[in-house]
Amino acid sequence: MAEAREVFLKYSTRRDVVFVLGAGTSHPDGVPLQREILPEILDGSVEEIQNSEIGKEVITFINENFRYNKDVNFPTMESVFGFIDYFLLHNESLNSVYTNAKLRIIKEYLIKLIHFVVDYRTNKKSKYYHLFWEAISKHNPNVSIISLNYDTLLEQAFDFLFEKFGYIDYSIHFMNYEKSEKLKNFNFWIDAQKPLKIKGDALPHAIKLLKLHGSLNWKYCNCCNQTLLTPWDRKIDLNKGKFLGYTYPDNVEYEYSCPLDGTDFQTLIIPPSYYKELTHNVISQLLTEAGKEIRAAKKIVFIGYSLSDADVDILALLKKNISNQQIIVINRKNPERLKLKYLSVTPNVTFYEKTFEGFVSDENFVEELLKG
Ligand SMILES: [Zn+2]
Repeated sequence: MAEAREVFLKYSTRRDVVFVLGAGTSHPDGVPLQREILPEILDGSVEEIQNSEIGKEVITFINENFRYNKDVNFPTMESVFGFIDYFLLHNESLNSVYTNAKLRIIKEYLIKLIHFVVDYRTNKKSKYYHLFWEAISKHNPNVSIISLNYDTLLEQAFDFLFEKFGYIDYSIHFMNYEKSEKLKNFNFWIDAQKPLKIKGDALPHAIKLLKLHGSLNWKYCNCCNQTLLTPWDRKIDLNKGKFLGYTYPDNVEYEYSCPLDGTDFQTLIIPPSYYKELTHNVISQLLTEAGKEIRAAKKIVFIGYSLSDADVDILALLKKNISNQQIIVINRKNPERLKLKYLSVTPNVTFYEKTFEGFVSDENFVEELLKG
């Protein structure tokens, strides 16, 4: 049998294509758009939310502080988070019930509800992301992906390429990489930035997947300041707020806590708000990495992304790092106000009106786009 070699997977200095994926790429698989999330929490359609402690607390808070008419419109997430963030930022309380400490809890509860709603319908394989990966593996692996989505459908769809073709590189440190007794059950994830043991001559690829607004399968411990990656466990208990895991192969449910210090994990998803908390060490590290990828890109392809007004972080990232890269924007519709948003970033933009499903199904178009 051939001996395994130790090999570093190297990245080229330039990136042929950097993809920036927005909600429009996960929506075909049932992941709600941002504007659909609060209505799902508030309209009473999901019993598990209505009957849970966390659901009740958040719904009461919103009902006491926002007037809305279910038939006409709901408050936006930006306005709810913006309101809470104001008090947190100024260290003020709203009243005797909603003290500063209580508002901090409400905010984490609301994030957990978003986590729950996004995860609700995503326990499946995505046909469209499968086609997307297939095109990359066939035509050009020298790409990076920046995603603003919390869901993990893109990673779940990578399964068929794992090892043979390559590895996903989230480009952050996970406690999974620590070789200690306490973490031995989590050592399965491969760090694509370290030397890998490889048999045979084929050299696998590493593809950076930078999730700038966090991910449902990242669990953050604010005691040891580390993140645990749980690729398959994304469930959350809406009564106790704990993350749930399942043993393999018996599928017995258990509650997650940090394997190193026993602390309860926090979510690592950044909700839409005009005051985004970008001081989070994981997120600021990812923003720096994304800046490097954008500068190294020959071509940047935005898909299903509306450049929302609350994404000031992304606007700043693009403004700072885009110079003469070729920019392509693919959206189901590109109304004038959306075009102007992109043109505010850089004047050199080509627009296409296509859905993500339409894009990945159009083989010639995808091949042309992936050319170096
Ligand atoms: Zn910890």
